[in-house]
Amino acid sequence: MENETSNTIPDTLSLPLEIRVHGRGGQGGVTCAKLIAATYAQIELFVQTFGDYGAERSGAPVRAFTRVDREVIKNRNKVYRPDHLLILDPSLLGPGILEGVRAGASILINSNEPPDLLQKQFPLYRFAVIDATGIAREHGIGTSAVVIINTTIVGAYATFMGLPADALERSYTAFGLAGDLDAARAASEAVHIFEPVEKTSPPAHNKEPESTPATVLPMTEHHRDIPSSLMTGAWSSQTPCYQEYAAPCSVACPAGNDVVGFIQAVKDNGPEAAAKILLETQPLPSVCGRVCPAPCMTACNRIFLDGAVNIRSLERWIADQEYPQPLPKQDNDAKSFAVIGGGPAGLSCAYHLAILGQKVSIYEKEDKLGGVLRSGIPIYRLPGEILDRDIDRILELDIDTLCNSTLNQENLIQLQQEYDGVIICIGLGQPYAIHAAGEQLEGVQQGLDYLAASKKQNVRLNGTVIVVGGGNTAMDCARSALRSGASSVKLVYRRSREEMPAIIEEIEDGCREGVQLLTQRQPVAFVGDKHISGIILAEVEPGPQEKDGRRRPIVTDKTVELSCNTVLLALGQKNNLDILPKNLTINRSTSPYSFFPFPDYSAPRGSAQGYEQLS
Ligand code: SF4
Repeated sequence: MENETSNTIPDTLSLPLEIRVHGRGGQGGVTCAKLIAATYAQIELFVQTFGDYGAERSGAPVRAFTRVDREVIKNRNKVYRPDHLLILDPSLLGPGILEGVRAGASILINSNEPPDLLQKQFPLYRFAVIDATGIAREHGIGTSAVVIINTTIVGAYATFMGLPADALERSYTAFGLAGDLDAARAASEAVHIFEPVEKTSPPAHNKEPESTPATVLPMTEHHRDIPSSLMTGAWSSQTPCYQEYAAPCSVACPAGNDVVGFIQAVKDNGPEAAAKILLETQPLPSVCGRVCPAPCMTACNRIFLDGAVNIRSLERWIADQEYPQPLPKQDNDAKSFAVIGGGPAGLSCAYHLAILGQKVSIYEKEDKLGGVLRSGIPIYRLPGEILDRDIDRILELDIDTLCNSTLNQENLIQLQQEYDGVIICIGLGQPYAIHAAGEQLEGVQQGLDYLAASKKQNVRLNGTVIVVGGGNTAMDCARSALRSGASSVKLVYRRSREEMPAIIEEIEDGCREGVQLLTQRQPVAFVGDKHISGIILAEVEPGPQEKDGRRRPIVTDKTVELSCNTVLLALGQKNNLDILPKNLTINRSTSPYSFFPFPDYSAPRGSAQGYEQLS
């Protein structure tokens, strides 16, 4: 390793690069692939790495994959045509091991066999041999029964591929494996490297462009053998079993979308078929595909592997491909319904009632439908024409709209007599107050009011703007304030950045644009004569854990004063039920399932792997 001490990309490296590691459970093949990826990342290349194992336990064949490229890697498949092959256990050598390996690929094997003899089996490839087991044993890595060779063989790989020694060392240090560097150095010196001795075309089973996925054994045919003494983690006392569960994405979607269904449909039959599935559950796919916080993605199982499936973007793409036609109305006995409020809840409610064959009128206080989607979300996130497109499709179901209708208790009683049902969908229109001294000063205003005004006219802001809150409205205010001319925008949130409820991408984009986050701070007073000139922030410490798992913020007496020109409050909203007659019984529901015969996606469907304790 002594010659390679720079961070430059080796001249011989051909990109994109795909690497496949074959090992046995317990040898550390997945960490081996990760270390290789981390080393390439140190020389500023994009990498992707993941293992391919499920129920295997110690000793079972395991594979791991690494991809390297100059650009973001979007291919999430397993590696079927590797450029580099690492074989951690010589007992894995057999006819299938070269499956898909590219002509001229580089192969590194851990073996104590004479290198010359081994090389004769691989004359078409760049080939290297290292006795990683022997070196790792000498350095005491693992136990006498199970020698862990991953960190040793990566040292040999680095020499084989001309990777910089300092990049390798940094990746070991980052993984907390610096103690294994001596073994890696020993392997890098001891590795035997052979260039291909034959330049003939590769054997038929390796010819491009074939890409045959390796055979996967059915997971259900597992055996309940007594576990061997060489176990991996908690699997030592568990055996895999299959349980029926709904996909977590579908369960997490508040709109009740059949996520698995629409993704499968887009793959099999295209966007039109997928749009049809989406429109069975929700009428605003173009909107949700842009601004939904996507709890479906937070619930995605792949998050633990290589990141969530980008469900929100798929939904947006499907809705944008073509104008999805509304679902046909069902032929039911029509009753009449008044829906109060033309925001997302009112629109969804009207849509589903109309599809069920009911007669619907929407009463909206503004001059256009859309509610907070129209007034509270900046156009860079949700352009007006996109919202209109979804609303127009809803209205194609013969829904009456009565805009500019500000209703009071009396009107409501009247409507109750006129219609078979009145459904209140007035949203959360009342912002929480901050209850801090000086909140009545000019220049302190509700964030939603600022967002609504800035969508109607060209609002200009000067100097420093402080936004208070950590949700999407707060991020919208902060990013819009920069666009309105603020010279500096600071977002104050009482918990940590990780606990901010705003969409992660919004936080990242906001920070990239120049929004400064002041977390674990809380405003305790606003300062100024008539107009605000400053804000007093107290430091906040995390207190005891609350029911939702988060720590309660405890405001301390350590304060600091910041000068500012505007404060935008985005502390969340509650509903204002003043419209309701006092003696009315309200049937509160947050779930459409309680009223309508929708498919219940929370019911067990599909399969998920689980584990059960061996008796
Ligand atoms: S993006 Fe939102 S609406 Fe779309 S599937 Fe995910 S949770 Fe449901």
